Amino acid sequence: MEKEGKGKNRKTRLILEIIGGFLILSLLLSSSGSVSESEYSELENKYNNIVEELDTTAKDLESASTKLDDATADLSELQADYDACKEENEALQTEIETLKSEEEARIQAEKEDEAQKEAAVAAKSSTSQQNSDSSGGGSVWKSATGSKYHDKPNCGNMNPDNATQITLEQAKSLGLEACKKCY
Ligand SMILES: [Zn+2]
Repeated sequence: MEKEGKGKNRKTRLILEIIGGFLILSLLLSSSGSVSESEYSELENKYNNIVEELDTTAKDLESASTKLDDATADLSELQADYDACKEENEALQTEIETLKSEEEARIQAEKEDEAQKEAAVAAKSSTSQQNSDSSGGGSVWKSATGSKYHDKPNCGNMNPDNATQITLEQAKSLGLEACKKCY
């Protein structure tokens, strides 16, 4: 674009120079050779002024074109910066989304883990409940001094006020025998 502009300027200048040349030539011809030296130099001065002005204009145009090119370059640089920022922003956005969903997954997993633990605790306690139930089935009654164990504290062969509950195993290890009335 810059090269093209300069070429155009040069072409325009050349055309104007030619026109200026013709102008002087035609003026010289129209005055049919009776042009004085002062008149001729005046015309030459005018022509030179025009050429100079044209040159200045061409230079101005060239510098304006350069400025425009610089501005265009700056703009495309800014555009590139903007694009880079935008891309970075999008990448960060994606990263945030990923972290967010990871965090959500982690919380979800934690919740599930907790629920599992609770379920395990509940299962354990229900198992131990069953265990105590079954061991309860093996419990018997013994009196303070008697040598027998009884199925119930008030079987009649024992004072219920002094009766204590023990397990069947304990009763056997104490050497107690089953009460004939109860069993
Ligand atoms: Zn008994």
